[in-house]
Amino acid sequence: VKEKNKNGFEFYTPEINKSLHRKMTIEKQLRMALENNEFKLNFQPQLNLRSKEISGVEALIRWNNNELGNVTPGEFISLAEETNLILPIGKWILREACLQNKKWQEQGLPPLKIAVNISMKQFNEHNFIESVSQILNETKLDPKYLELEITEGIAIMDHTFTIEKLHELKNLGVKISIDDFGTGYSSFGYLQKYPINILKIDKSFITGISNNKENAAIVKCILSLAQHLFLDVVAEGVETKADLDFLLQTTCKYAQGYYIGHPMSADTFERKFLSMK
Ligand code: C2E
Ligand code: CA
Ligand code: CA
Ligand code: CA
Repeated sequence: VKEKNKNGFEFYTPEINKSLHRKMTIEKQLRMALENNEFKLNFQPQLNLRSKEISGVEALIRWNNNELGNVTPGEFISLAEETNLILPIGKWILREACLQNKKWQEQGLPPLKIAVNISMKQFNEHNFIESVSQILNETKLDPKYLELEITEGIAIMDHTFTIEKLHELKNLGVKISIDDFGTGYSSFGYLQKYPINILKIDKSFITGISNNKENAAIVKCILSLAQHLFLDVVAEGVETKADLDFLLQTTCKYAQGYYIGHPMSADTFERKFLSMK
């Protein structure tokens, strides 16, 4: 963004204004995006490394706006959190994901677990449990086919209400996973205290693992921890055959990443992974 003129002085180009302007436009457009139907979900397959079948799918939000074009979640999720717009958007994501999964099951396709990202604001909302329960009732999805991905940031909050909430979710019958595991906090205490089912190892440890002794050591350590705590593990960021082959030699149960499949539309997902069964 910074450029040098011929005297070597730095000056700011219109690029700075442009990125500021984009941020403001994103915020403005975000307020109307839900009612204008601008969001959709993409689905990324998760491979069961033992059965070699696609056994799950992660829902990932996509936003296309007339003025802005495609806006990545990296660009707008944090803004949606700051403005509390994540609350209605998050509810929409959850309902849409459950609806899609139910639809696949009603078509007679082999049942999959659908993983939905839950932001901290959404988790902390006072009626979060009620909305999850209401969406499950409304869509008639069996709760065992829903997994909520939370971050270590949520899990680590040592509040009684966090533990209570997680237990209520467990009682509803939904699964809980810790997203981006390994990047957040170094305390593992919460893993045995909380009703957590799955660890998703962050992609920074997985991509290129066969050439990285340090990451291989960390991942083996996480796998051993998970085994002792009876947690399932999903490895994220599997980008090559070498990444996958490495994981196949370990106790890791599930893998997700570009090598297995990119996030894709519901139609494409159906065509590629479901209808051939
Ligand atoms: P995440 O939950 O960790 O999601 C995984 C991200 O990694 C996704 O990016 C996915 O497209 C990307 N990815 C998948 N496989 C690979 C791979 O093999 N290599 C690499 N380098 N990347 C891979 P995306 O969709 O852009 O989402 C980015 C982040 O935005 C997500 O990280 C999540 O924190 C947030 N996000 C996305 N969708 C939602 C949503 O529906 N709700 C909420 N609250 N957050 C979301
Ligand atoms: Ca995730
Ligand atoms: Ca992740
Ligand atoms: Ca994340």
